[in-house]
Amino acid sequence: MARKIQAIRGMNDILPDQSSVWLYLEKTVAEVVKSYGYQQIRFPIVENTDLFKRGVGETTDIVEKEMYTFSDRNGESLTLRPEGTASCVRAADQAGLLFNQTQRLWYTGPMFRYERPQKGRYRQFHQIGVESFGMATADIDAELIILSARLWKKLGLLDQVELQLNTIGLASEREAYKAALVEYLTEFKDVLDEDSQRRLSTNPLRILDSKEAATQAVLKDAPNLEDFIGDESQAHFERLQAILTANGVSFVINSRLVRGLDYYGKTVFEWVTTHLGAQATVCAGGRYDGLVEQLGGKATPAVGFAMGIERLVLLLETLDLIPDEAKFATDVFIMSMGDEAELSSFVLAETLRQEAPDLVVLRHCGGGNFKNQMKKADKSAARFTVILGQDEVAGGVCQVKNMSTGVQETLPLNDVAGFIGRHTL
Ligand code: ATP
Ligand code: MG
Repeated sequence: MARKIQAIRGMNDILPDQSSVWLYLEKTVAEVVKSYGYQQIRFPIVENTDLFKRGVGETTDIVEKEMYTFSDRNGESLTLRPEGTASCVRAADQAGLLFNQTQRLWYTGPMFRYERPQKGRYRQFHQIGVESFGMATADIDAELIILSARLWKKLGLLDQVELQLNTIGLASEREAYKAALVEYLTEFKDVLDEDSQRRLSTNPLRILDSKEAATQAVLKDAPNLEDFIGDESQAHFERLQAILTANGVSFVINSRLVRGLDYYGKTVFEWVTTHLGAQATVCAGGRYDGLVEQLGGKATPAVGFAMGIERLVLLLETLDLIPDEAKFATDVFIMSMGDEAELSSFVLAETLRQEAPDLVVLRHCGGGNFKNQMKKADKSAARFTVILGQDEVAGGVCQVKNMSTGVQETLPLNDVAGFIGRHTL
């Protein structure tokens, strides 16, 4: 036998027993974002490598060590998208959607990062991203957070996630803070973990994110970003908090929260959970007023967030929050015996699908005797099995068996949809 080829490490198949959870989550998100007036945008999975180098930042984990970059047959450097924001900006700007107007956009799809695969962390993973453009005031930051809170509420997750908020100020404020942080940390350079030592010269803010105990200990007495935040950023942050509070959205301020991507400023936030171990963040975002310009567009204020679908699916499964209606279940299994009954069974199946489009109607294919077909009906876990033989067809009727009670009755063919409707209340 030929050797079987396996999937690539860290890239998962979503099998039929999981896909209904994905569909449920995607459908719920689509409904919520639409109700806030967000429209979907779709862009390619592959972009020029420079888009991410410039858009995400040369000194970020993503660009330094996580991108899937390759040359195409023309020798051009292309990259599988590691995130959606840079592509979303590229696409919207290229189409002229960012010029003197506001936009509310969302997208979903696979992202690729070469990370160490573990629970909640994969090499191909999926995000849902929501981005807004052209609005500089804190009300839009608040709208996005309130939108995400509504989504958690709809999914039954609101009590299971915590909103962490911070402001990282303007670029100039961050520069001043970076200088103070570097000055302080340089004294303790030998104590810092290896990554943090390197970041001292490349991306010192990221050191605040370090999970290493020794580094965290040194950080205890480090200068605080809060002390470097100017009046404008502070006022923006306070307005955001006031709107959230007025809307009953609770939050904690985490002054160490920075975000790994270079383009953020002012608002940053994360929704975290205690149920997923180290992969605790299910949704992360913030304001990125500098990105459009950094990618060659006209300066455009922007704010957005992205959530990790795998982590949300894990959370829904862990907490058993998938409603029964979202689970795949066969309602009716139709079996028939003989050519004429086979034709009638097609007519019946199509009638049911026409009259009751929500029903899952499985028409047995592949022949076989009634006994074998009944085994398939059992295996399908259908609620009802319809049996059509020569005699039934001749009489314009069928047998309908309620699979949980075992009760079987004879019904006119044109009453099957009504019968199932009456038994589904
Ligand atoms: P982390 O700190 O967990 O690496 P990140 O800061 O790199 O996250 P973002 O780039 O902000 O993550 O992506 C937004 C969300 O996408 C994350 O909060 C997470 O839910 C999800 N995510 C990011 N990387 C992965 C991955 N490798 N596998 C699964 N989900 C991921
Ligand atoms: Mg990461």
